[in-house]
Amino acid sequence: MRIAAVIVAGGRGTRAGSPGDLPKQYRQLAGRAVIARTVEAFLRHPAITMVQVVIAADDRPFYEAALQGEGERLRPPVAGGNTRQASVFAGLAALKDDAPDLILIHDAARPLIGPDIIGRVIDGLGRHDSVIAAMPVSDTLKRAAADGVISDTVSRDGLWRAQTPQGFHYAAIFAAHTDAQRDSTLDFTDDAAIAEWAGLRVAVVEGSARNIKITTTEDFILAERLLSDGSTVETRNGTGFDVHRFRDGDHVWLCGVQIPHTQALDGHSDADVGLHALTDALLGAIADGDIGQHFPPSDPKWKGAASHLFLRDAARRVRERGGRIQNVDVTMLCEAPRVGPHRDAMRASIADILAIDIGRVGVKATTTEGLGFTGRREGIAAMASATVVLPVGNPPQSTVE
Ligand code: MG
Repeated sequence: MRIAAVIVAGGRGTRAGSPGDLPKQYRQLAGRAVIARTVEAFLRHPAITMVQVVIAADDRPFYEAALQGEGERLRPPVAGGNTRQASVFAGLAALKDDAPDLILIHDAARPLIGPDIIGRVIDGLGRHDSVIAAMPVSDTLKRAAADGVISDTVSRDGLWRAQTPQGFHYAAIFAAHTDAQRDSTLDFTDDAAIAEWAGLRVAVVEGSARNIKITTTEDFILAERLLSDGSTVETRNGTGFDVHRFRDGDHVWLCGVQIPHTQALDGHSDADVGLHALTDALLGAIADGDIGQHFPPSDPKWKGAASHLFLRDAARRVRERGGRIQNVDVTMLCEAPRVGPHRDAMRASIADILAIDIGRVGVKATTTEGLGFTGRREGIAAMASATVVLPVGNPPQSTVE
């Protein structure tokens, strides 16, 4: 059984707001020309023997730019006519001397066609003269006059929206098209209509809501979303860790809160170990170095600096990529001071610095049961994690300090 596909790309769609003169079927959709995606969908299908594309004669350079290096089952394109019907006829006629048994006719502007629909149409041709992919109408239908006033509600029972591919026995549809060609008053908008006109029985099989016809700019946006499985963002996670030793003093800074204590933390800046760990977690989530790279301890500019500057800068870097901080979490490891009484003040401080809701900020503490340097009260350690949502294909990291 030889099964060919005719891909109709002759239309001069300008509704999609094409930049310059590039027709929509040659425009890029998520990095590939629309027509290349459509043709590939058929070439990838194991049941398809060959693919014949019909183009507008003037579009040859666009076609060659979009489809260079495709497989040997792809025949050279043929030029279409002034109507869709004339273009399909040209594609069918081009196959006359190497006639397939079955033919699937498909719009180039439906690049999201999947192997499941192609398979259902082919299977259906085992039982019917002609088979089209279609979707049942689910909206309530109204008939309205020119003034917009509804005259009646139309029953949607038995109503389907026709998609493509539309499948036929080649000899039967070529004969029907040839007959239709002789009467210039006829202009059918799909091939099923020609089959019906010729007296062939046409059946529907289930299409797909994904199998959209790209006509407007909104359709391009929707198609790109569907191609990325509905997700235009990616979720990133980063972790950070920091330690500062104790020195003489009477207070420590933890997560932006000043806490009276019998010692202070030693450091070039204010030694806020919690904010340092969190800054590194955010920088890690966006793969943008670490706190020491952006704020070198060797730089006198940062001597005694309040660490909220570092954290605020990391948040700026996230925003610069179009990202947003989903949540952050900090754990401090120390025997003293007690963190619990200050937890909510710390959360509020971090939420304020990052400009996020306090419900997205966790602060916790634990002792280390007297073990290790924190257990010996030599210093405080902190670890942090941050989750960041970035647009897919986020812009490269900035070098702005
Ligand atoms: Mg530090």
